[in-house]
Amino acid sequence: MPADQLPPPTTPSLNADCGNCFALCCVALPFARSADFAVDKSAGRPCTNLLDDFRCGIHTDLRHRGFTGCTVYDCFGAGQKVSQQTFEGRDWRRDPAGAGAMFEVFPIMRQLHELLWYLNESLTTAAAEPVHAELRDAWDRTVELTDGDAGSVARIDVDRHRQEVNVLLLRVSELVRGAVPGRKREHRGADLIGAKLRGANLRGANLRGAYLIGADLRKADLRSSDLIGADFRGADLRGADLTESIFLTQFQVNAAKGDATTRLPAALTAPSHWGDSPPEGLTANPASRGRPRRAGGGGTRRRSGRPAAPR
Ligand code: SF4
Repeated sequence: MPADQLPPPTTPSLNADCGNCFALCCVALPFARSADFAVDKSAGRPCTNLLDDFRCGIHTDLRHRGFTGCTVYDCFGAGQKVSQQTFEGRDWRRDPAGAGAMFEVFPIMRQLHELLWYLNESLTTAAAEPVHAELRDAWDRTVELTDGDAGSVARIDVDRHRQEVNVLLLRVSELVRGAVPGRKREHRGADLIGAKLRGANLRGANLRGAYLIGADLRKADLRSSDLIGADFRGADLRGADLTESIFLTQFQVNAAKGDATTRLPAALTAPSHWGDSPPEGLTANPASRGRPRRAGGGGTRRRSGRPAAPR
């Protein structure tokens, strides 16, 4: 069925809604003192900056206080799903007996929602039409997994499910990149840290899981490239064209440097800090209701760093 005739998936929201989440990323996930976080925090322990109403007490000053890692993470809507659906609005402060289960389920749900993000993108990509039926089936199976109760979600073999979905995503990648004429560059998993790629023709390139930390990608042509899991921390995307690239997430964008000349896929937005001075390392994206959205980090129990998307 042509892409424009496909019914839109009945979506769980894949955008973070911090106002309907019990600050799960500020509690459930650990972080280590580093350039991204000013302190160590173990999994399941609330951050000392977290307020009683689940807002961040230093929201307006995160970057200057050494918490840039907080400002890039994004749960793909897993936080409100776990808070409001899986646990039916019971928060971990008022129901401490359920806290452990909630913190266990959250990172699993995040991985599932991340997969839904990629599947949803694939289902709206015309070049992927030959596999739309299989994608739709994978979408339905993934949504069904997210709708389970806490015990069911905790038992999901999420690595196996990711591998199954990734088989389809690889086919989508081949279809999209295969439509680009000429020779395409192959950089899957490549170490391109600090690479000088200014103005490079990376159209249709395979950059799955590539390390592009600090790379100079100014004015690079990344159209129709596969960017799943690529690590863009500190990469310079000013003037780069990422339109029609596939599997790029807001986290990756937030973690990079860019400006008004950076061209992004329609589903993504330029973070507000791109108007500021380029930061060292990670970058900020202050979000709604006094708590930031944080992107990337894959579905692992990490708060920042290398995306853990399928590669
Ligand atoms: S956003 Fe970061 S600093 Fe603020 S409460 Fe959450 S974990 Fe702590």
